[in-house]
Amino acid sequence: MGVDLSDVRVVDNHCHSVERSQHDDVTSWRSYFTESPDAHVRAVDVASTACYQRLTTAMAGFHGVDRAEESVLAARSAVGVSELAGRLWTDARLDALVVDTGFPDPAIALSVPELAVAGGCRAVSLLRLEPAFEALILRAQSYDELLDLTRDTVSDVRAAGWSGFKSVVGYRTGLAVDRWDVADARASYAAARTEVEAGGRVRLGHKPLLDTLLHVAFAAAAAQELPLQFHVGYGDPDADLRQANPLQLRALFEEPAYRGMPVVMLHNCWPFVREGAYLAAVYGNAWLDLSYGIPFLSRGELRQVSRAALGAAPASRLMYSSDGARVPELHWLSAHDGRRLLGEALDELVADGDLTADQAQTAGERVLRDNAWSLYGIDAAPRPR
Ligand SMILES: [Zn+2]
Repeated sequence: MGVDLSDVRVVDNHCHSVERSQHDDVTSWRSYFTESPDAHVRAVDVASTACYQRLTTAMAGFHGVDRAEESVLAARSAVGVSELAGRLWTDARLDALVVDTGFPDPAIALSVPELAVAGGCRAVSLLRLEPAFEALILRAQSYDELLDLTRDTVSDVRAAGWSGFKSVVGYRTGLAVDRWDVADARASYAAARTEVEAGGRVRLGHKPLLDTLLHVAFAAAAAQELPLQFHVGYGDPDADLRQANPLQLRALFEEPAYRGMPVVMLHNCWPFVREGAYLAAVYGNAWLDLSYGIPFLSRGELRQVSRAALGAAPASRLMYSSDGARVPELHWLSAHDGRRLLGEALDELVADGDLTADQAQTAGERVLRDNAWSLYGIDAAPRPR
């Protein structure tokens, strides 16, 4: 008998909320399932990806309708979004959600407590650093005040209700977060303020300033022993993939002062999964997130990802996620796919004589639930109602 993870309730260690208002026409619906800004890809090409077609088939099965997109959309639209999330996530059997509330905009999305109710599970949230920094740049009257406000914001974040940090620097200026002279950081701050004066807002792509503020956050995360998630690899073309390779994080991992900060490399680091697995194997504070929802991949590719990760990294450093965002279907399908594909990869390890069946079962439970449960301190989150 193979490894059976079907009864394991999962901790989704990286996901996002669901939008209150959902697209119900085919063209707009398809656009949920691509990171491409290209109109033709969003409206047409995405429909022929393996991932989209698998999702459509799964949804047809769940709702008991034929697999035409119109039929599937009509079935889901007949149910309110909270009710839909509740039905899907009950079926997915979630133990906890770790939510990045930086996307989608919380003003148009279900709140974290609403997500917990829908999942019948616990839910914790992460402080997304770059938007927090942008808000502080609007408030600060000087560079020195900005540093003070940043220190205040990133200290004692558990008391402020957060369970860790998330950084999208991989989307902004790349994962090689450097040390800068004060003069460079001040000049960069002046450029950001010029942007504020001109347009009333700032998109923090000013590398010396962003890197400097991130170092403040890293020191605080290490002091509080709080996990920090990095967007790594796959994303919209806003991310220069050459700067989003996890090997760019080397200086961070080599920094003795940051050893207390668990670093979670998101999205399988795809396509750099082997690089991510290597880092999780050699650095004591590196964790690799195995996401079965986004990137939008076939089951075969997700099986390869599982193999590559389990083939090199300790099972104690791998954590399941969906990266589900905007619609509840991604969190749902990913939970089923994650159990199945992780189980298949573990079966291979048993067949090869790497693991015993018991060891493989334990490894699966750690990746799907136990590692994240302890890393994010989920015991402290309210129990499901
Ligand atoms: Zn995400």
